[in-house]
Amino acid sequence: MKLSFHGANQDVTGSCHLLQIGERLILIDCGLFQGGRELDEENGVPFGFDARAIDFVLLTHAHLDHCGRLPLLVNRGFRGEIITTQPTAELARLVMLDSANLQEEAARPHDPHGKKHVQAAPSKPPLYTITDTMDCIARFGRTTTYQEPIEVCPGVRATFYNAGHILGSASILVEGKDQTGSHSILFSGDIGGAGHHFLLPPNPPSSADTVVMETTYGDRLHRPFEESLTEFYDAVKSALSRGGNVVIPTFALERAQELLFFLRQGVEDSRLPPALNVYLDSPMAISATQIFERHKDAFVPEVQKLFGEGKDPFSLPGLHFTRDRSDSIAINSVKSGAIIMAGSGMATGGRIRQHLEYNISRPECSVIFVGYAATGTAARRIIDGAKDVSILGKYVPVRAQIHTINGFSAHADQKELLAWRDSIADKQMTVLVHGELGSMQTFAGKLTGKVLMPKLNDEIDL
Ligand code: ZN
Repeated sequence: MKLSFHGANQDVTGSCHLLQIGERLILIDCGLFQGGRELDEENGVPFGFDARAIDFVLLTHAHLDHCGRLPLLVNRGFRGEIITTQPTAELARLVMLDSANLQEEAARPHDPHGKKHVQAAPSKPPLYTITDTMDCIARFGRTTTYQEPIEVCPGVRATFYNAGHILGSASILVEGKDQTGSHSILFSGDIGGAGHHFLLPPNPPSSADTVVMETTYGDRLHRPFEESLTEFYDAVKSALSRGGNVVIPTFALERAQELLFFLRQGVEDSRLPPALNVYLDSPMAISATQIFERHKDAFVPEVQKLFGEGKDPFSLPGLHFTRDRSDSIAINSVKSGAIIMAGSGMATGGRIRQHLEYNISRPECSVIFVGYAATGTAARRIIDGAKDVSILGKYVPVRAQIHTINGFSAHADQKELLAWRDSIADKQMTVLVHGELGSMQTFAGKLTGKVLMPKLNDEIDL
């Protein structure tokens, strides 16, 4: 049995692991590399394996850095089955289509807003198209529920366990048998914090021979959430009282719904003004919110109770969903009192760029970052105090108040990662992935037993 690594190695994006059990090749995730141009280019290079030879993909969750290269895999000849949970299948469809759309858009020579100042960059072909993505969606086969083992193929069994990270997210235990013997490998996927506000907490299996785990926050502890929430409400109120807007680069999955949840609660608890003007300017986040509303059983009892009382925990008065481009552009004329959420979360693409362009140079406005910002992204540069930032082809001065609120993380912190790891017995080895090198090394120092930190395309025997 062999395990090789094809993404998120000493890095946080591009998750992709290949397991060979006998003759069978099983991929766990096939995510997009995200970040600066360098990482973007990494997406186009050969996978390090033959896509045509892969039999199955097991998908941990629907974030782009875990599912975003699946359409490329299909484009390059993958004809096997993709197995995941039902909510992940529904969410991944959205995420991949949105990604294909952004890539097709970026490949067009002209700026979609038709602005004259934009330098027409030489166009490069998209990594994959909407057609590739439709072909990929057709490869989603069986869905599974938590803790119900599924026979992937003779000799290979997979069990998905709640990872508590986003709706549908799973850690996947793969139990395989071949001529060399049997071995169980647990792939953590991304692990949620114990304090998730509406999802049930992670519930990993009690044992595995090898554990492949993420280490995004392997070197730090999150602040108590209540502090972050107070900071968030204060930042919103401050911008509104200065007569400006609040712009929040938002990951469409989970974070957008989490913000809606807390905006609603803030109004309900009188911690925010009663009449908010909130724009969710992300077709994907709007669709994702509807998927959330279809999977009520995934939520903590308090949230299920709200649904039971006929209250939607992800809605509030004054909330506008803007799907159409024209409605999105109309927000540009709103100069004060608006809370604008749009993607992408790291401000590397999508509608958020237009809202940053219109608001980030105005001192009365606030930009609130509530998610992870990888090195090399516009979000990272703004957080690090850049005086100006390149948006849609021009430099815009940064004069708005910038807030970074980390407590909303959907990732476990160091203490929670350790607790998760410690709950799994019979381990032979821990393989660390999905973390920047420093974070990974710090976390490795906290573990006992054999620890590996593989590099891209490394292969190990199990
Ligand atoms: Zn994730």
